[in-house]
Amino acid sequence: MTRRTVTRFAPSPTGLLHLGHAFAAFTAWRAAKTEDGRFLLRIEDIDPTRCKAEFDTALQHDLAWLGLVWDGPLRRQSEHMADYAAALARLEQAGLIYPCFCTRAAIKAEIARAGAAPHLSNEQPEPIYPGICRTLSAAERAARIAHGEVFALRLNVQAALTQTGPLDWHDRNRGRIKARPERFGDIVIARKEMPTSYHLAATLDDHVQGVNLVTRGEDLFEATHIHRLLQALLGLDTPAYAHHRLITDSSGRRFAKRDKALNLAALRERGVAPEAIIAALETGRLDPLLTG
Ligand code: GLU
Repeated sequence: MTRRTVTRFAPSPTGLLHLGHAFAAFTAWRAAKTEDGRFLLRIEDIDPTRCKAEFDTALQHDLAWLGLVWDGPLRRQSEHMADYAAALARLEQAGLIYPCFCTRAAIKAEIARAGAAPHLSNEQPEPIYPGICRTLSAAERAARIAHGEVFALRLNVQAALTQTGPLDWHDRNRGRIKARPERFGDIVIARKEMPTSYHLAATLDDHVQGVNLVTRGEDLFEATHIHRLLQALLGLDTPAYAHHRLITDSSGRRFAKRDKALNLAALRERGVAPEAIIAALETGRLDPLLTG
């Protein structure tokens, strides 16, 4: 028996949806519709400093206007913080999480001292964390936390991989991919002021929502290395992945929230019909929308 495809669109309500978002939503919606599947909506609003209720409302309105109607109730991450805390506690109990008190400057200084090149990748502009706080004693950790020092919680990736062994996943566009989360070092999995992270919340939610096909932009391809590790550590299902290309304007630039004229609300106000937007997304010919 073949499983019905369950896929999702997972925007963060930090601004109005633009054509890049519409393309991501359309790609997921089309995958669900052509495979007799389900298209789900998830609002990724764990960061209260950047997310706004008005953008949450606006994005639902924009999707409905485009006819990209989601199946069943949406999932809003800010309503499920206890789930993420429980997952974090599991990782902590497995001895895989440690508090990190380093500032950005301290991380850079340590990298320079060790003579290593800050290992940067396009998708991860942060330098790889050199592990300064990984070896602090339990007593020192407790003392610094008690002293009120700010900290982030990092995942000990090498220790995690020792527990899971080698991992891989299937990407519909690129085939079988070997997971290499060690390339990103000990990533931040939560912070004192934000007790989860995109990685933890999104990975857990894909499982909870029964997503078996993650459709999202290529800019998140690298994140899948980390998500695959979290799935193995937390006993979550591994969906298939389809990372899609990112659409660009006529000068080859990716759409961003700053391109106000290209958000869906502005196009609507200019009298552009939703059918015209869907047709443009389908054919990839966006120029008539941009100039019309
Ligand atoms: N919330 C993310 C974004 O808006 C997408 C996350 C995902 O699809 O996994 O870029």
